[in-house]
Amino acid sequence: MPLHFNKSYKIWPVVTIIIGLLLSFFSGWFTYNYYKEKENLRLDLASNEIVLLVQNRMAAYEQVLKSGVGLFKASDMVSRKEWAIFVKEHKLNENFKGIQGFGYSEVVLPQNKHQHEERIRKEGFADFKIHPDGKRELYTSIIYLEPFDERNIRAFGYDMFSEKVRRAAMKKAMQSAKAVLSGKITLVQEFNTDIQAGFLMYLPVYKKGYKLDTPQERASAIQGFVYAPFRANDLMNGILGKMFPDIDFEIYDGDSLNKENLLYDSNTNNKSTLYKKTKVAINEHTWTLTFRTNSIFKSENIYIIFLIPSLILILTFLLYSLLNSLIKTEESAMEIAKKATQKLQNSEERLRYALEGAGDGLWDWNLVTNEVFFSKRWKEMLGFAEDEIGSDIDEWKNMIHPEDLKHMEADITAHLEGKKDTYKNEHRIKCKDGSYKWVLDRGIIVSRTFDGTPLRMVGSHSDISERKQSQLKLAYYLQIIDKNVISSTTDLHGKITKVSQAFCDISGYSKDELLGKNHNILRHKDMPSTIYKELWKIIRAGNVWEGEIKNMRKDGSAYWVDVTISPIKNEQGETVGYTSIRHDITDKKHIEELSVTDRLTQLYNRLKLDEIFSMKLASARRYNSTFSVIMMDIDYFKSVNDTWGHQAGDDILKEFATIIKNNIRETDVVGRWGGEEFLILSSQSSLESAIELSEKLRDLVSLFKFSYAGHKTASFGVSSYHAGDDEKTMVKRADDALYRAKENGRNRVESEKYN
Ligand code: GH3
Ligand code: MG
Ligand code: MG
Repeated sequence: MPLHFNKSYKIWPVVTIIIGLLLSFFSGWFTYNYYKEKENLRLDLASNEIVLLVQNRMAAYEQVLKSGVGLFKASDMVSRKEWAIFVKEHKLNENFKGIQGFGYSEVVLPQNKHQHEERIRKEGFADFKIHPDGKRELYTSIIYLEPFDERNIRAFGYDMFSEKVRRAAMKKAMQSAKAVLSGKITLVQEFNTDIQAGFLMYLPVYKKGYKLDTPQERASAIQGFVYAPFRANDLMNGILGKMFPDIDFEIYDGDSLNKENLLYDSNTNNKSTLYKKTKVAINEHTWTLTFRTNSIFKSENIYIIFLIPSLILILTFLLYSLLNSLIKTEESAMEIAKKATQKLQNSEERLRYALEGAGDGLWDWNLVTNEVFFSKRWKEMLGFAEDEIGSDIDEWKNMIHPEDLKHMEADITAHLEGKKDTYKNEHRIKCKDGSYKWVLDRGIIVSRTFDGTPLRMVGSHSDISERKQSQLKLAYYLQIIDKNVISSTTDLHGKITKVSQAFCDISGYSKDELLGKNHNILRHKDMPSTIYKELWKIIRAGNVWEGEIKNMRKDGSAYWVDVTISPIKNEQGETVGYTSIRHDITDKKHIEELSVTDRLTQLYNRLKLDEIFSMKLASARRYNSTFSVIMMDIDYFKSVNDTWGHQAGDDILKEFATIIKNNIRETDVVGRWGGEEFLILSSQSSLESAIELSEKLRDLVSLFKFSYAGHKTASFGVSSYHAGDDEKTMVKRADDALYRAKENGRNRVESEKYN
């Protein structure tokens, strides 16, 4: 199953950053606004409170002035002393901080000015006079001003009507009969240091019995003014004290905010922006109050305003880094997984191609659920369509040939239990048409739990019906071969390691009797050891030896085999043993023997003698060696037949043959040359030793007592091989010698020497 690499997760760090920045911004924004709102509210409350406090205090002063007016209304003439007592009662310093004094200014008509000044002078103020000097329509004269201290004395006799700001306020008070506040002035009491802005509050005192309904009536009824001078800074400090240390506000006289109008400034250093501007009407006068603040940026607020966004930014950055590193880890893991998957896919594909290419069916068995997946090829192989076999393990089991199931299950169990590295089994499986097919089934566990319990096994099965068929055929043929081919293998020393049934059959031994034994237990005494010497020489040299061998059965009888012995070589080319294949040639040998054997004497016949003769001649010519021919003829044999009959003659011929055969060497050959003539081919024998042998035989014959005839003799003619000889010349010389032996009286040996 291919893995899908979804790249969309890569957007998350960016999204995190964006969300983080937005959260940070909005948290900052909200915190800022929250503090701003809070501060606005506080400022609103504070400014309102300030305005209220000022208004209340001014209202209180008005009340004080009113009580002063009341004092004048109550008596015809308020004396200086009464006024002093009255003011003292109010404890201005304690209760009305900022008020400079509490006074009474009397209205003086120009014609009464002198009289007025005289009256006050009489009270003990010799220098008293209305000031400043000058002629005016109307004078006002401050006659009482408590506390009558050094500062206030400077105002004593001052004509406030002479100055326009004061006059305007006084006129307004006079005409309206209300307490009126003046504009900004500098009090006449001020001197040298700490000169503050000031203002005054006036309340008119009217003469008794006058009508006061219109401004004109009030103007004509005016007697004087109760008033109070204020120093703005002192007043405000008195009203507010340290109540609003962080709020900066200014009071301007009138509407315009210019410096000339500035009455009060709570903090002359504060240049922060204007926050709020409030017009306040106090006693027929307008003050403008401005409030400034920068207190929303107080350190703890700034801290909080910036803290939360900063924390969010830090968290965002951390989250971003975390996500990035996770993505990197994930990506490298994915890269590894991708490569591994690719590798696996490649190898799986290769395997699949290899298997599909090989025409194998695949199966995939889930050991937990016991479900099996079979490939299309698996089903095809058995003649099923793709949807014809379910995925149940039992369905599979039912298809296995009953004789093979047990063995197959044992093989699977051996693999599952870890006793075998892979599972491998050959069994028959039922096709759709009911026939069975031989399959080679192979599998391996591909997945396990942590503790090693197998979870999944996959495998393939290959159709081996044909192979099975050939195997069976091969086994059949091998059996035939085993039965019919005489074969054996031996080790390097001739010890038998393997024999076929045919080998056992021909030799009369059982396999057990042969295995481990040496091959020479089959050796027949007729076989000359020279043959075996030559045989071993050839096969030890790594060559193949072929020849005919006469062997002996367990029962002692002989049989002939045509043998091919070849060395067995290992992969390194070293000879590790020998294998022999034999044919039974006993019958052939028998026929062959018959054809070369003289029926009567069992000696070689003329045919065989001719064959051996030419071999001897060839050998003598090649090796420049010699051999001899001995020709024998029984003396007066005709008379035997004549006397005792032909049968007696035959018997004597047999007896004669036996004498000769038993008294010659193994390497000498004797045969019947014809009638009662015999021939010996004596190997490597000089003429002398052939004569010697002939003498010996002549002697033995003459001494032998034959049946019927008793003693009989024979004559011998001997010749030897000389260069240029052939059979004819050699036989001729032997024959000539034999003739001479007859001539010379018989029972004699004659040789070519005297020819
Ligand atoms: P010698 O050789 O001494 O001169 O006298 P001989 O009587 O032996 O003469 P010869 O060799 O000429 O005669 C051979 C006789 O041997 C003739 C024949 O009847 C007899 N003969 C040959 N072959 C056989 C045989 O196979 N069986 C028997 N019974 N007699 C045979
Ligand atoms: Mg003869
Ligand atoms: Mg004869």
